Formats: sequence, C-alpha cells, structure tokens
Amino acid sequence: MARTVFLGGRVFDGSGLAGADVVIDGDRILDVGRGLDGDVAVDVAGASVLPGLFDCHVHTVLDGISPFQAMQRPFSYQFFLAARNLRTLLNLGITTVRDAGGADAGIRRALADKLIAGPRLQISVSMISQTGGHGDPVMPSGLPGSMFSAPHPGRPGGVADGPADLQLKAREMIRAGADVLKVATSGGVLSPDTNPRHGHYRAEELAALVAEADAASIPVMAHAQATAGIKEAIRAGVRSIEHGIFLDDEAVSMMVERGTWLVPTLVAPRGVLEAIAAGVGIAEGSKRKIREVAQAHVESFRRAVDAGVRVAMGTDAPVMAFGRNLEELSLMMEYSAMTPADALRAASSSAASLVQLEELGSVQPGKRADLVVVAGNALDLAGLDTRITEVWQDGLRVR
Ligand SMILES: [Zn+2]
Repeated sequence: MARTVFLGGRVFDGSGLAGADVVIDGDRILDVGRGLDGDVAVDVAGASVLPGLFDCHVHTVLDGISPFQAMQRPFSYQFFLAARNLRTLLNLGITTVRDAGGADAGIRRALADKLIAGPRLQISVSMISQTGGHGDPVMPSGLPGSMFSAPHPGRPGGVADGPADLQLKAREMIRAGADVLKVATSGGVLSPDTNPRHGHYRAEELAALVAEADAASIPVMAHAQATAGIKEAIRAGVRSIEHGIFLDDEAVSMMVERGTWLVPTLVAPRGVLEAIAAGVGIAEGSKRKIREVAQAHVESFRRAVDAGVRVAMGTDAPVMAFGRNLEELSLMMEYSAMTPADALRAASSSAASLVQLEELGSVQPGKRADLVVVAGNALDLAGLDTRITEVWQDGLRVR
C-alpha cells in the first residue's frame, strides 16, 4: 500500500504542538518527524495535524431534547438519525465516540461493516436507572414516555432495583453488546421530576453492578450529579463520573486518589438553556432545574481541574446539537485554568485512556492513522470546527 506523507505542517501529537511531517502506511502511523517522505504527499503547510478526536458522551439516536417530538416518530426513524449524527461527528474530526445510552450493537456493526460512515463507536445500550430515577420512562402522568424510543430486542429497558436485579440488568446489557455500562447514580435535569441533588442506588446495588462489569472486563460510567451519588459511584469503582454537577472537595479528592475520570459535558446546560429560549417543548421541571444546576456545574468543573482530576471530553450531544461538539473545548478553557493544549488532550490522548483505546488519540508511530487536518494553528481553538479541511480514519480520507 502507498505511504502517504503529510508535509510541512505542525503536529499535535496528543500532548503538544510542534513542526513535523507524518507518514502513514495502511491504517497505521509509520513515522513522525522532520524531512520525511512517502509515495503520496499531502501538503499541510500552514495547517495543523491532530489525532482523530473523541467525544466520550453522546446519544447518537437522538437529535434534540424534546420528548414530545421523539415520541411521535416512527420507531425506526432513530437509526437514520444516528447515521446522520455519526456523519456529522466524523466531519468534525471526531473519529471515536462513546454512546451514553440509546445506540445498540446494530449501529456499531453497521459502522464496522462500513454500511454507514462515522466514528468508531462504543455503546452502553441503555442507561441503568432505579425506579423513579433519571432513566425511568414513567412520566408524572403515569404514562410511559421518554426521549428514547421504546426498548427493543437489542436494547433492553434500563430500570432495575436491588442487587439481584442490578446483576441481571448488567448481564442483559452485556448480552446486548455493551462496551461500557451506564448507570444513573443521581437524578438529572431532563427527566421531569427527578432531583439532581438526590443520590440514586445504594452501595450494595452499585457493588453488584460493578462486579458484573468487572467480570466482563468492561468499565462503568455514571451519570452523577448529586454529591452523594457521585461519591457512591466513586466508592463502587466506576471509571468515569459524567456531568459531576455537585462536586465537593471530598468528592474531588476521592477522584484524584482513585483516578476516577470526569466527563464534564459543559455544553449540555447551555444547550438546554438555548432550547428553552428557542421555545422547544421540554418539561417544566427541567426548565426550573437547569437554572439551579448551571452555575454549580461550572464551579465543580473548576474545582476538579484545579485538583488535578483526569478530564476527558464529552458533550451529551444532542443536548447541545450534533455539529457543535467542539464548543466544549472552548468552554473547558473559559471555565477553568485549562490551556488549549489541555483541552485538546482531553479530546484526544486523555479520552483514549478513558475509553481504553490506547492505539488512538495520539500521533505516534504504530498508532492507528486517525488524523485531522486543521487550517492554521490548532491551539487557536476559536472556530476550530470551521477550519477542519480533512479527516482521515484508519488511513482512509473520510472527509
Ligand atoms: Zn447523556
């Protein structure tokens, strides 16, 4: 196979930016350095080459936050939405994503078999939630309703209570092909009546869940907003705290001590506020709750970064629409002491560590040839999404 050389640009290798050429051969990076050659040259003078980026928290089968809209669509519409959303992500240079609920093994297989184009996909299938929790589809009316479509053979419902039920539910998700288990250890904003300050699940329930994940060699990601729910999740051994709205000093030091990751999803509250301003139909409770959590979220994130908690980028798209994912990078800098290089690391090498795909996320010999070409200096994050000129995945140009 022909070796392709990216000539004359700057390379963000996963930790820092420096002038270098990159040679790829097939689906692998062969060499990184100055004065390299290859059979085919791509002129990237004046541009930057990044590793393929990650979004560690998306919902690929959704395109908004209105349950009313989602409930009126035919069941299979979600899969076509997913195909479109995945294409959008790829165009942004996001070549790997972790789905935090909704995507099933069929979507992952369709990507792997190249029936559709998109990032490689890790799935959690359905969010596991207690009765009355963030993922319980029973609405205040008593009727079932949710942004997610109905359960189906490849996507069991996620409600479970008690250690024995948690064990069974974990096994159902693993049977359905979960790469990671997603559990809600607190209430949330978009479920109408749950309280984001209440911890969900007790220690013995989470222990049963994590034990099943451990046995299947997969990690657990926790939707965790309440301080109590965050701490129970950390103690139980989850790999990542998603959102982390009400982090106190003790929670932050527990995360540092245990190496627990934070996936902050800073664009999500903004997305909810924008949707409300645009008149999107969401629950009254959600409208009230978003105003109560937004500032705490920012302060918790800053506290975590200052303490040295490991951060990986995730957006909760489509809470903020697909296509705006890279705005998360700017918010990380706006809300904390993170530098542009820190933000890019969160979306590349750090994210690869979180999702345990170490052959991705950096531009180094031997790694998979996922590359993004960005006009200008990649550390200038403003408008980064408008400056992407090429996206390569496994050595093939996909944009
Ligand atoms: Zn989410």
